[in-house]
Amino acid sequence: MSEETGMEAPGGGLERGRVLRRQSVLLEQSVLLELAAAQAPDFEASLRQILKSDAELLGVARVSYWSFTAGSNAIHCDVLYQRDRDAFDGGAELRRADFPRYFQALLDELFIAADDARRDERTREFTESYLEPRGITAMLDVPVWVRGRLGGVVCHEHVGDLPRVWTEEEQAFARSIGHVVSMALETAERSRAEESLRQSEERFRLLVDGVKDQALIMLDPEGHVVSWNAGAQRIFGYEAAEALGKHFSVFHPSDSVARGRPQQQLRGAAERGRLEVEGWRLRKDGSRFWAGVVLTPLRDADGQLRGFAEVSLDMTERRRAERQQRLLAEASVAEQQQRLLAEASATLVSSLDPDTALTAVAHRSVPLLGDTCLIHLLENGAVRRVACEHSPGSRMEHVCGDVLGPEEGMPLPELVRVLRTGRSRVLTDTAKLLKRLGSEDSGRAGLLRRFRPASLLVVPLIARGRTLGTLSLLREESGHPYTREEQALAEELARRSAYAVDNARLYAELRRAEQSQRFLGEATKVLVESLDYETTLTRVSRLGVPLLADWCVVDVVEEGNVLRRVAVAHADPEKEVLLRELQWRYPARWNTNPPATRVLRSGQPELFPELTDAALLPLVEDAAHARLIRELGTDTVLAVPMVARGRILGTLTFGAARRRRYGAADLLLAEELAHRTAMAIDNSRLYQEAQKAINLRDEFLSIASHELRTPITTLHLQLQNLRRLCTARDDALCRRLDVSTKQIHRLDKLIEGLLDVSRISTGQLRFTVETLDLTQLATEVVEQFQQEAARAHCQLELRTREPVTGRFDRLRVEQVLANLLSNAIKYAAGNPVTVSVEERGGFARLTVQDRGIGIPEKDLSRIFGRFERAVSPRNYGGLGLGLFITRQIVEAHGGTIHVTSRPGQGSIFTVDLPRDFLSAETPSGAGASAGPSGH
Ligand code: ADP
Repeated sequence: MSEETGMEAPGGGLERGRVLRRQSVLLEQSVLLELAAAQAPDFEASLRQILKSDAELLGVARVSYWSFTAGSNAIHCDVLYQRDRDAFDGGAELRRADFPRYFQALLDELFIAADDARRDERTREFTESYLEPRGITAMLDVPVWVRGRLGGVVCHEHVGDLPRVWTEEEQAFARSIGHVVSMALETAERSRAEESLRQSEERFRLLVDGVKDQALIMLDPEGHVVSWNAGAQRIFGYEAAEALGKHFSVFHPSDSVARGRPQQQLRGAAERGRLEVEGWRLRKDGSRFWAGVVLTPLRDADGQLRGFAEVSLDMTERRRAERQQRLLAEASVAEQQQRLLAEASATLVSSLDPDTALTAVAHRSVPLLGDTCLIHLLENGAVRRVACEHSPGSRMEHVCGDVLGPEEGMPLPELVRVLRTGRSRVLTDTAKLLKRLGSEDSGRAGLLRRFRPASLLVVPLIARGRTLGTLSLLREESGHPYTREEQALAEELARRSAYAVDNARLYAELRRAEQSQRFLGEATKVLVESLDYETTLTRVSRLGVPLLADWCVVDVVEEGNVLRRVAVAHADPEKEVLLRELQWRYPARWNTNPPATRVLRSGQPELFPELTDAALLPLVEDAAHARLIRELGTDTVLAVPMVARGRILGTLTFGAARRRRYGAADLLLAEELAHRTAMAIDNSRLYQEAQKAINLRDEFLSIASHELRTPITTLHLQLQNLRRLCTARDDALCRRLDVSTKQIHRLDKLIEGLLDVSRISTGQLRFTVETLDLTQLATEVVEQFQQEAARAHCQLELRTREPVTGRFDRLRVEQVLANLLSNAIKYAAGNPVTVSVEERGGFARLTVQDRGIGIPEKDLSRIFGRFERAVSPRNYGGLGLGLFITRQIVEAHGGTIHVTSRPGQGSIFTVDLPRDFLSAETPSGAGASAGPSGH
């Protein structure tokens, strides 16, 4: 205690300073030795020892060690030694916020020796809360450095009534105590760190060795093995002792080493920080295994490469399993593809409706070949979407659902290109396509843009060298692009589909041809049934409905170039009223423009496959007309001309509702029907005209022959009277009268012939039957002709053996024989003529044979017709009626007449008559009953 200063001060001076210095050195040594020797260094124990020694040597009541908390915002009292109780304590904490001056001073000055702590600027703030309660009057605080940083403070607190002056020696001692604590702290920390490193290495060792499935290998920077775990031993087969020091390339196959792979891998790992590879590795026994390897570079704190860690896994099994799985998957894909083909084929061959079959094919293609499958067919120059099938949840769903235009859902230019070239197209970059489509095709591009398929495959449907349509497959974003195999499969599918379509079309064509044939056959029957052309046309109009059309109208050009609708027919009887209304309200006139009139004007058929409003407009007279036509059910129209011998007789017009669409085949059929109808009309017109002419002629002949007959008969009688008056004196007169009588006789015969013809055509030829002997009759007739034969220098001979009796009309049979004989003499050219009568099989046979000019074969059947002749009228006179009348008479007797002849060799006329006129069948027009024959 010093009087002047009023402060406590321990005595001792220089000596005490020396003691303190020596004590601090000793303390340091003993603490360090203790720490170094300790297995688990106990810093706190050392600290206690230091603080206790400190307190005793400096004679301070309280010595404590405070460590800075993280952030240096507070100090925490780790150990407090109180000398009076010889006890250790701790736990208090002082915050910088509460004692800012003290903290500032500590950090600025690093050493605080406050002799009067309650007054000292640096420590005054402790007075009330800390110093006074504890009776502290002086403080000596020294810093403790830990690895160059302020880590804590050793506080000396003097408790007494007065402040205490800290001497130089005491301050130096306190500093060295701070140094000793630092040393103790660092030593303890180091050995703690070493211990934890040792422990962590131990744990790592255990971990590495515990890993049996993976080879964990440490390599030095050059690639030599420095560490080898149990997994490495198991996988590679080398013991650790064998492996250590080896270069890791010995675990690589020689080819891989030759290519420098191991070094490349080290370099790669060093550059990239990590390298993952798969590849073959070698075991000790030389066998190979497939390894998955992760190579990681190991670097120290300075970034220096210290080596590599290689983790390898034997993946041989996994690889085999994966390969197997892939093969299995591939096999099942191939199998599915085969099944797809087989099923599609079965569907295609079993269905004759291509639309249904193609829909089924599209359905089966999804999802194996794509998320969506579309099939388009080329029909009459237009592309029609036949099928659109999608996998569930596909974004194309509503495209397929909508009944859109044919090109919707597909870029038309792509379709058209495939249709044109007949070659498949694969598109993996739809962005490019979209760009190409640009604004010119914005609607479709918009659609594609929305669905943006990842890839698109369009293959052609080709059969017999013709492209019939396309099959398109779309895969959405998630799918992979189309492979060659898939393209081949799609092409095969398309090929089979095309053949099915082709077959169905052929079949349909065949059926249509058959139907057309049947239809035309029926039409022909109808056409020949009636010769009345209006009846015929009405029937024709009915015939076309409903096979060819829903409705049909027939227009004809009549005399005076007048148009007339002669027949209408509708499949729906109720709508036939509309047809009549049409006829009545809008009659066909030359200055109107319906298809029929157009055809009449041009002579060319008119075909409207699809009668759009725009196409209908120019054909009608007003809106009501158009409405009426639509009401009939008119979406497709066809009009064809009826032409015969270059003249247009009229037109046939057909119309049908939407389900039909007239094409080339319908046109052909309609034209054929029109042709046949025109022929029929023409024939019936010609027939009617001819009939009229014949009737006129017959009428004329009948009147003329009757009118001529009366004066001729009178003339004949007059000549006979004159002949009787003529005497031998008037020889010349008598001869002239004879010639005149003969001429009158000939004239009479000619008129008689004409009369017979007109009787025959009016069915008025009468017969008077009697029993007579034909031999007798022939003898008389031949006798009558001898003179005429002689004049023609012709020898006339009769051959008979027996009487041939029967019931005949005498005069008519005489007429038959006379006709044949006069012809024979006329055409015999002076050669002999033979007549024979005989009985043959119950018939009486008359034969007249000459050896004259004969008859060409082509004329043989004709010469029995009315007015038919086979010679030139300049050389031979005659009307061509003789054989006609002869045949009528023979047939009226129930007999037959025929001729055999060769030009230049003569003719044989043979007549066979049944023996009994009554037993004969009576030909029509010939009365069997007797009566005045009228001649
Ligand atoms: P025509 O008055 O012309 O003789 P017919 O009816 O008697 O008329 O005979 C028809 C035609 O048959 C003759 O024009 C002639 O061409 C041919 N004809 C008839 N009989 C003979 C015959 N015996 N020899 C050659 N031609 C004959």
